[in-house]
Amino acid sequence: MHPTPTIPSVTFASGSDIRDLFHLFQKAPIGMIVFKGPSLTIEFLNEKTLEVISKKKEDVLGKPLLECFPELEKFGVDKILLHVFNKGEKFTAKEFEANFYKEGKLYAGYFDFSAEAVLNSQEQTSGVMVVFTEVTDQLAARKKIQESEALLRRTKEQLELSINAGRVGIWHWDVRKNVLTWSKEQFEIFGVNQEEFKGQAEDFFSYILEEDRSRINAASRLEFERSDNQYEYRIRRKDGSIRWIHSRSKTFLNKDGNAEYITGINIDITEQKNFSEKLEKEVSERTKELVEVNRRLMEAQQIANLGSWEYDVATGEVTWSDELYRIYGYEEKRFTVTLEKAMERMLPDDLVKTKERMKMHTDDAAKNFEETGALNYDIPPAEYCILLPNGAKKILRSVGKIILAEDGTINKMIGTIQDISEQKKAEEEILLMNAQLNEAQEIAHLGSWEWNLLSNKLTWSDNLYNVYGVDRNEEITYEIFASLVHPDDRTYVEKIIEAALHTNQLHDFYHRIITPAGEIKILHARGEVLLDHEGRVIGMRGTGQDVTKEKQVEDNLLDTNKKLAERMEELRKALEADKLKSDFIKMASHELKTPITSIKGYVQLLLAMVKEKENEKSLSPLFVKSSLTNIEKQVNRLTRLMGELLDLSKIESGQLELNKEEFSLNELVIDVVQDVLYTNPKHHINIYHDFTSTISADKDRIGQVLVNLLMNAIKYSPEADKIDVTISQHKNSFVAISIKDFGIGIDKKDHERIFERFYRAEGPAEQTYPGFGIGLFIAKEMVTRHNGEIKVESSKGKGSVFTFTLPL
Ligand code: ADP
Repeated sequence: MHPTPTIPSVTFASGSDIRDLFHLFQKAPIGMIVFKGPSLTIEFLNEKTLEVISKKKEDVLGKPLLECFPELEKFGVDKILLHVFNKGEKFTAKEFEANFYKEGKLYAGYFDFSAEAVLNSQEQTSGVMVVFTEVTDQLAARKKIQESEALLRRTKEQLELSINAGRVGIWHWDVRKNVLTWSKEQFEIFGVNQEEFKGQAEDFFSYILEEDRSRINAASRLEFERSDNQYEYRIRRKDGSIRWIHSRSKTFLNKDGNAEYITGINIDITEQKNFSEKLEKEVSERTKELVEVNRRLMEAQQIANLGSWEYDVATGEVTWSDELYRIYGYEEKRFTVTLEKAMERMLPDDLVKTKERMKMHTDDAAKNFEETGALNYDIPPAEYCILLPNGAKKILRSVGKIILAEDGTINKMIGTIQDISEQKKAEEEILLMNAQLNEAQEIAHLGSWEWNLLSNKLTWSDNLYNVYGVDRNEEITYEIFASLVHPDDRTYVEKIIEAALHTNQLHDFYHRIITPAGEIKILHARGEVLLDHEGRVIGMRGTGQDVTKEKQVEDNLLDTNKKLAERMEELRKALEADKLKSDFIKMASHELKTPITSIKGYVQLLLAMVKEKENEKSLSPLFVKSSLTNIEKQVNRLTRLMGELLDLSKIESGQLELNKEEFSLNELVIDVVQDVLYTNPKHHINIYHDFTSTISADKDRIGQVLVNLLMNAIKYSPEADKIDVTISQHKNSFVAISIKDFGIGIDKKDHERIFERFYRAEGPAEQTYPGFGIGLFIAKEMVTRHNGEIKVESSKGKGSVFTFTLPL
C-alpha cells in the first residue's frame, strides 16, 4: 500500500526560499493543487497534476474547479473541498474514485489524496491545498490478482469438492516397471476393490469396454509421444453398470526421450455424458423434426407444384427451390441460376411482358418507398408460359415480394411459382362443361338453382337468369325470388317450400312468375332438400323450367278436346233430334191419320146409309149415336193432338202465356177425373184428398197436365185398371199431386229423358202405344212455368208414380 501523501504544515517565507519551494512543488512526483476562496478557483497546480489531467496550465489556471471539471460534482469533490475550506478540517481519502474527461473520453481514475486549508498571514483560511497520488494502475493490478486468487480458490474448492465426492481419481504408472498406482477415489470410480487389483497396466485395460479398448490402446501409445493427453472411454464396473470416464494424463520422459512414467486423473463423466447424450438426442430429434418439416414442405411444394425463388439484386444471384428446378423441367439437374437462365424457357411474348412487369414493379416499389417509406412491396400474381425442350408447354403462376433496404434501394426479390397447367386445364374443362350445361339449359328453357339457408343466398345458373328475365349481376335472395312469383301463386309456393323444409322432400310443382318486364311465365319446379351430416336442413337445390309454351299447348289441347266433346254432344243431340223429329213426323202422320181414317169410315158408313133412301128408315138411332160418339171421340183425340202441337210451337217460340186465377185444386182434380172417366169408363180412379188447397194458377193448363198424366197412366196400363190420385202438402208451401198407376213402368235410364221433347221410351212394348212424345214435355213446361217441379218414381213392370208440385 502506498502512504497517503501528506503535506507538512508550511509557513510561506519569502525570497529564494520560496522560489526553491515552488520549484520543489513543481517537480514533485505527486500531484499538488491549490484552490483559492470558496469558489475553489485553481490558483496553482504542478506538473504532475497537469500530466494526470492531460490539460494545459492556461486552460485551467484561474478557473473554478467545477468550470474545468463539472463531472466531478457527481463525486462530491467540490463539497469535500468546501467543507475543508469552511471548517478548516483536514480530509484524507484512499482509492477515491473520480471520473473526469481526459482527452475527450471519460476516465475512471482512483486517487489517494489529502486536502488541507491554506492560511494567510492573518491565520485565516484563504484556500485549500490538495495533494494526491493516482493509484488507478495499482488498483487494477490488485483487482486482477484478487480475481485470479478467487479463481484459484474456486478451482481449488471445486477440485477438493470433486475429489471429496469421489469423482476424480489419480493414477500413476511407472512405465518401465509396469507398476500402476491408484488413488482411493480411482478405485471408487472404477468400482474395484484394492485387494483384487494387481497394480499393472493390464488391470486398467480389463475394465475398459471392448468397443473402446482398441481406441484407448491407440491413445495410450500416443502417451509415449505426447506429454499431454486427453481421452474418453467407457468402463464396465463389477456391478455391470457402464460409466463414462474422462482421462487426462501427463507423460514424463527421461533424458533419452523415453517415457519414464505417466500420471493422470480420471473423472466420471457419466452424468454429463448422459445429459449431453440426451441433449444430443433431443437435438437430433429436433433436427429430424426439422428435416421432416422441410421434407413435408418440399412434398407440399411438389404436390402443389409450387417452387420458391429468391433473387439477390446486389449479387445478381438467383436461388431456386428443388421443386422449381423440376417445374422448369431440369428435374434433378442443379446449376447456378441467373436472371437470364431463369427466364430462358419463357415464351418470347411472356419474356417481354415479364421484363416490363419487373420494371413496373421495381419502379412502383421505389415510388411506394418515397411516398410511404414501405420496405416491402407485394408483386401481384402473374401468369406466363414456358416451353420445355420436349415441346411441352406449362402455364405458371408467380407471386412475390420486393424487399428494400433502409435507404430505399432494392435488396431482394422473393416469390413462389406454381405450375397451374393442370388447374388451367381443369378450369377450361369446367368452363366448357358450364357452357355446354348452359346451352343445354337454354335449349330446355331450364335453369338450376341452389338455396343456402344459412346465408339466404340463392345461386342461379346463367340460364335461370334468362328464364326469370333478371340481370345476371343481381344477387338473388329468397325474398327476390318470392317477389318474382305471381302474386296469386305466392302463398301456394310458400306453403310448398315450408312443407319441404318440414318433410325434407320437395315435390314437383308448377307456378307462375312475372318477369321484371311484366311477362307471365309458367315454371315447372323440381328439386331436393339438402341436409348436413347430422340431418339438419341446410338448403335446397333444383331446377326451374319454363313450360309456358307447353302449358299453352296443353291448355289449347284441353280446350279443343272440350270443344270437340261439346260439338260431339251437339252433333249427337242434333242427330238424335233429327231421328226424333223424323220419328215424330212418322208418328204424327200416323196419329193424325188414324182418327181421320176412323172418322172417314163412320162418315162414309152413315152417308152410304143415308144415300140408300130405302134404308133411311132402317137407320137405327142407336147406330147413328154410336157412330157419332166414335166420331166425336176421334175428333176429340184430333183436337187434343192439335192442341198439343199448338202448345209445342207456342213453347218453342216463347209465346205460352199463363192466365192465373184462384181456384180449388181438389175440385179441379175431381172435374178432370170425371172427364177422363167419361171417355174411359172402364177405369177406376181413386182420389185421396190428404190436403185441400186453393191456388193461384192457370186452371186450364194445370187441368191439361192432369189430363196428360192420367191419359198416360191409362195408356201404359193395359193390364191394370186402377189409378190413385193423391193431393198432399209438400214442404209447407207446396201442394203435391201424384198419379199412381200399376202399368208397364219405366226403366230407370229413361226417367230423365221422358220429359224431353219427342222422347219416347224404347222397347217392343212401347212402340205399340200411340203417341207423339210431347205430352210429358208440355206437362213439365207448364209445371216449371208455375214454379213447381215434376218427377217420376218407377221401375220396369212395377207401375209408375208421377208427382208434380205447385206453390201455395
Ligand atoms: P207419348 O205421346 O209417347 O205418351 P209422353 O210425353 O206423354 O209421350 O210420354 C213420353 C214417354 O214416357 C212415353 O212414350 C212412354 O214411354 C213414357 N210414359 C209416360 N207415361 C207413362 C206411364 N204412366 N207408364 C209408362 N210409361 C209412360
